Amino acid sequence: MTARLIDGKVASEAVRTAVAAEVARLEADHGLVPGLAVVLVGDDPASAVYVRNKGKATAAAGMRSFEHRLPATASQAEVLDVIARLNADPAVHGILVQLPVPKQIDSLAVILAIDPRKDVDGLHPMSAGALMTGLPGLVPCTPLGCLYMAKTVHATLAGLDAVVVGRSNLVGKPVAQLLLRENATVTMAHSKTRDLPAVCRRADILVAAVGKPGMIRGDWIKPGATVIDVGINRVPTQDGKSRLVGDVAFDEAMAVAGAVTPVPGGVGLMTVAFLLVNTVRAACAAAGLPAPRI
Ligand code: NDP
Repeated sequence: MTARLIDGKVASEAVRTAVAAEVARLEADHGLVPGLAVVLVGDDPASAVYVRNKGKATAAAGMRSFEHRLPATASQAEVLDVIARLNADPAVHGILVQLPVPKQIDSLAVILAIDPRKDVDGLHPMSAGALMTGLPGLVPCTPLGCLYMAKTVHATLAGLDAVVVGRSNLVGKPVAQLLLRENATVTMAHSKTRDLPAVCRRADILVAAVGKPGMIRGDWIKPGATVIDVGINRVPTQDGKSRLVGDVAFDEAMAVAGAVTPVPGGVGLMTVAFLLVNTVRAACAAAGLPAPRI
């Protein structure tokens, strides 16, 4: 048996197209142009690439993109000052501070400083609490992408057994909350879980967000299960270069599962797409308009 591939390129393009259509409608009907501000502190090359890609995707969807670069030596007060100005700027509906920040800056203080209504990364405790209690709020982008991909396979998630491996605030916990909201029966696994292979084998939907290359083996997967691989790990290759792999042993998973997301070309592509969705959501909420139809 060969599993179906859940193609992140196709899925993310569908989301971006829907965002662009909604942005055009908002501008035509309400004169509203959603705006996303990205703050980059320091000159980490990987972060600079992410920020550039986010800016390009924002502009391509017809939204306003603002970029704020601070030197690696910036003080916490300087970063908080930029956030305060963006909080007060009505053209800015979403604020994202690219993490990690240099060590002299307290990332929690930065997250707490962002107005929760503009918290498009969904990392503010207010956003996390809203997700947990079922109140309206912004949800982290990668988990939204995971849920979208699972829904391309299952018309409903109600009653399915879902296992989430990893419990970070960025991925594992919000994915579990989203699955619970869809009425799946959710198990959260982590580094202290006993007999992880047996726990994983119960899953109709298995989400891996660990950061360990190929950790989830084929015989940990229930035949026909849907496997969402969030992991992005760089591993060396024989020719002295490197390549990206997920947390799931991909070839083994393809032989057992019903559907699998690849790495690269899977969940990673959904994250930026849902950043755009969150910005449109925040813009609609700020303008007192109904939530967008995305
Ligand atoms: P964290 O390091 O914050 O969390 C990892 C989690 O995995 C922890 O909860 C940890 O458990 C658990 N874990 C570690 N080792 C094991 C083990 N042997 N068995 C079971 N669980 C284990 O990582 P993130 O959640 O931030 O990221 C996870 C992966 O997803 C990374 O590869 C990252 O690069 C990728 N990622 C991808 C994104 C995308 O856009 N596709 C976005 C964000 C992340 P414990 O809590 O007990 O320590």
